[in-house]
Amino acid sequence: MHVLVTGGAGYVGSVVADGLIRAEHTVTVLDNLQQGHKEAVPEGALFIQADFCRSKDLDAAFRQSSFDAVMHMAGETIVEYSTTDPRRYFHTNVIGGINLLDAMLRHNVNRIVFSSSAAVYGEPLTAPIEENHPKNPINSYGLTKLMFEQILEWYGKAYGLRHISLRYFNAAGATDRLGENHNPETHLIPNVLKAALASTPVWVFGTDYPTRDGSCIRDYVHVIDIAQAHVLALEKLDNIKTSAYNLGHGQGYSVLEVVQAARKVTGIDIPAKLSPRRAGDPAVLVASSNRAKSELSWEPRFPELEQIIDSAWRWMKNRR
Ligand code: UDP
Repeated sequence: MHVLVTGGAGYVGSVVADGLIRAEHTVTVLDNLQQGHKEAVPEGALFIQADFCRSKDLDAAFRQSSFDAVMHMAGETIVEYSTTDPRRYFHTNVIGGINLLDAMLRHNVNRIVFSSSAAVYGEPLTAPIEENHPKNPINSYGLTKLMFEQILEWYGKAYGLRHISLRYFNAAGATDRLGENHNPETHLIPNVLKAALASTPVWVFGTDYPTRDGSCIRDYVHVIDIAQAHVLALEKLDNIKTSAYNLGHGQGYSVLEVVQAARKVTGIDIPAKLSPRRAGDPAVLVASSNRAKSELSWEPRFPELEQIIDSAWRWMKNRR
């Protein structure tokens, strides 16, 4: 299939684009390079520097090639900023997203795989979280992801759009060539590893959560496994009715446990500074991925936290 990957110059997007090419699909990346990096676009992908929030840009892209599907990975992604600047999140993730769907309809493209998030659930009532768990997002990031999932349902019912939303838990790790490179970096694993390289402390945001050691618990998933789920979702899209899948391992690690694992992987005694909570963070997010495993035949290859951290560490050291 020829797939248009929005956000394909970003962290997860570039690894997904790479996975699609390896699975012998044709890939065009559309990215405005606001957060993405041109050099992350995989060899073999076509690249269009454009903004999915602009109809004109999209019409030009859709006229350039005939696409079989869209993977929509572009958007605003940082939970904390979504609590202080929600406008940006609604404009980009919701209005921009509708803009993309309307362009797809205009150009007769009727398949989409959407990057959604564990943030749609809010503060969970159970762990691990099943897909039918109540959705009460506690930050505008999660709300915009939930709204777009709901918009997809209606576009599906009314216009025949085929859609799957993949709810990522915490994407982490790297391939040999592609890794996490945000500016500013807000994510835990790259921050711990940067602290290791720079001999500076890592900040632990919140030590008074109702968890085993007081720090937040997350379910870390290797970005290569996330990419594999996208390829499977695309290839099964025409034959399944389910519209949302969790991507996680059912196994959570606290921030302090991640720091400890990073010390083991790097051999460096990374100092941790305990600090107040960060806005918008739920205490625990751990996925049940039984649905993705049984319906998409998703078989994660790198479920171990230390493997994930090790891949990110090797990538980070190589690009110094
Ligand atoms: N975190 C932290 N120090 C950092 C970055 C993150 O303590 O330098 C915490 C953060 O507050 C959250 C967890 O690590 O509890 C995971 O955060 P991250 O930003 O990696 O992913 P999120 O769950 O927000 O998508």
